[in-house]
Amino acid sequence: TRTPLIAGNWKMNLDHLQAVAFVQKLHWALKDAKHQDGSVEVAVFPPFTDIRSVQTLIDADKIPFALGAQDVSAHDSGAYTGEVSGAFLAKLDAKYVIIGHSERREYHAESDDVVAGKVQAALKHGLVPVICVGETAEDLEKFGASAVPAGQLEAALKGVPASADIVVAYEPVWAIGSGQAATPQQAQDVCAALRGVLAKSLDEDAAARTRVLYGGSVKAANIASFMREPDVDGALVGGASLVVDDFAAIIRFE
Ligand code: 13P
Repeated sequence: TRTPLIAGNWKMNLDHLQAVAFVQKLHWALKDAKHQDGSVEVAVFPPFTDIRSVQTLIDADKIPFALGAQDVSAHDSGAYTGEVSGAFLAKLDAKYVIIGHSERREYHAESDDVVAGKVQAALKHGLVPVICVGETAEDLEKFGASAVPAGQLEAALKGVPASADIVVAYEPVWAIGSGQAATPQQAQDVCAALRGVLAKSLDEDAAARTRVLYGGSVKAANIASFMREPDVDGALVGGASLVVDDFAAIIRFE
């Protein structure tokens, strides 16, 4: 059985001082929540500049949140101005790294090859890649819901060993920040198709073990309906992960 993962992608929000205050408040709001016993995993993905501060706080106060970054370089070190190595993230106890978010694919022209290179870099440095895939509204109309995300996942898994620890996030581009989430059935259908890609590209055990998340306008009001679907193992939350009470309610989903 797969431990649900509720992940907060802060995107370019909260400076390091705001981040520390936010994590303290969230931890307080979750004092008696079920994630305390490990039955739900919580992860936060702050901007790079916040990671050291959040790590220090989590460590000092024994806060049971995992830490992740929103991107990683495909390279280990060297003349790559502005990039951040997976080695540096691992040194900060980052467990996860988001790779191939649609905002990076769109605004930074990240191709499937770039995404695959970053997945390799993450694994090399002991980070768990959270591989994001999803179709645009135009793709949906032309190809249906599963074809584009399945193709993106297949490309990202090139050279990944079946034993690798990875997470997949299905984020339909049309649902991100739009207030128009996919229906639970739509999310289930695509997440099941992505699990099929895991079985084919890796193996059956990897497909059974790997968590597939849904992301796109997840809120306290709809999280439970997604979590009831058999192939949806958690959520990648944007806007609602920036509001303490909203994110706490999502983590407390029933
Ligand atoms: P929203 O939850 O704001 O729609 O963002 C989803 C997302 O892109 C998470 O990575």
